[in-house]
Amino acid sequence: RTGKTVGILFVDLDNFKTINDAEGHEMGDALLQAVAQRLSGCVRGPDTVARFGGDEFLILLTELHTPEEVLTIVERIRSSFRQPFTVRDQEFFLTASIGIALYPCDGETPQELIKNADLAMYAAKAQRGDGCAFCSPEMKESALEKQRLISRLHRALERKELLLYYQPQVNARTGEIAGLEALLRWKHPEMGILSPASFIALTEQTGLIIPIGEWVLQTACETALHFHSLGIPPLPMAVNLSAIQLRDPELPAKVERVLRETGFNPHHLEFEITESTIFQDPEKVIDVLKTLKALGVRITLDDFGTGYSFLSRLKLLPVDRIKIDRHFLQEITASEKNRAIVRNIIHLAQSLGADITAEGVEKEVQLAFLLEECCEVIQGYYYYPPLPPEELEAIFLPL
Ligand code: C2E
Ligand code: CA
Ligand code: CA
Repeated sequence: RTGKTVGILFVDLDNFKTINDAEGHEMGDALLQAVAQRLSGCVRGPDTVARFGGDEFLILLTELHTPEEVLTIVERIRSSFRQPFTVRDQEFFLTASIGIALYPCDGETPQELIKNADLAMYAAKAQRGDGCAFCSPEMKESALEKQRLISRLHRALERKELLLYYQPQVNARTGEIAGLEALLRWKHPEMGILSPASFIALTEQTGLIIPIGEWVLQTACETALHFHSLGIPPLPMAVNLSAIQLRDPELPAKVERVLRETGFNPHHLEFEITESTIFQDPEKVIDVLKTLKALGVRITLDDFGTGYSFLSRLKLLPVDRIKIDRHFLQEITASEKNRAIVRNIIHLAQSLGADITAEGVEKEVQLAFLLEECCEVIQGYYYYPPLPPEELEAIFLPL
């Protein structure tokens, strides 16, 4: 109405959950009230401060003469947060991440402005919090891109755009293929074959990993049986499981169903789980792993060395195999420390009675070192990259 710029601030408290968890919800509520009051003190008469939900506040600035003026207010908020919040004689230091969207350049409707301020808040949060960010065209574009990818991903299964590649694991002493790892690919109609790095996180955020993971398991078992039917000796098949799948109470029943329906020998199935997955909720995960193991399948600890395996917990884990993360192998020639780490991981696996696989082996020197340290099962470009099943078949059954 006034023809002036309007600003929306999306204010999200950093790490508020920690306080809520530690001090209880009543204290959290009182603290939110104190924050609301402090925020109200930072704005001018015609402005509005609202609680949007949880630990999120929205501020509507209606009388901006220039877009820069919004920064004065953001600065006022940030400096007011430098004083502790006192609730029931207890002092709390809080920071907030603030996203900024301006009318009309960042949106024409309230919904659009709030959405874009939220996007900007995420960008601010990504820089470790306690900061602010303006909404930008790139942000809007990448959010749109992500949205498009998600809606395509929803259809990818039924449109049969998902495929599995298989990477052989080789026994380096004999040169024989000792197992396979199933690795997901998405044949995107426009972007070509996408690696999981570009979409696994999206499948986890949307929960799509649950049906997709089931498809992966089913397909990997079917392919292994197909290879076997061609006269290829049965090989262990490794399938990756994400943290979300492990939290699915139906997982053991689904695995059981796939094994029953395909007739795949459970002793040839290995589930790969990363350390970080396990240590998010160790007791529960250990229970699930035990249930899976009772079906006869094996458990591999993937990307070992990159998470936080407390040694005390490690001995409680029902693991059959440990996979050394490829990052330790990359600088094996340059770094004595990396050599020492790899050596120790191998010893650790031996003392736990677990098998060991080295992953991401690309060079002769890496292989020589691993063989010297008695690590024989090798997965990496040195032998084979992940391959589509037809190509693998040609390797197994040369004409
Ligand atoms: P990961 O389980 O650690 O798989 C190994 C990754 O290392 C694969 O990447 C593989 O292509 C790559 N790699 C193998 N050898 C070498 C090498 O010599 N050098 C280098 N630089 N890389 C090598 P990919 O296929 O892109 O998979 C990435 C990650 O995506 C996997 O890491 C896994 O965490 C995840 N992923 C793949 N398929 C699935 C799936 O079906 N379900 C779930 N939940 N996650 C999956
Ligand atoms: Ca893996
Ligand atoms: Ca790995």
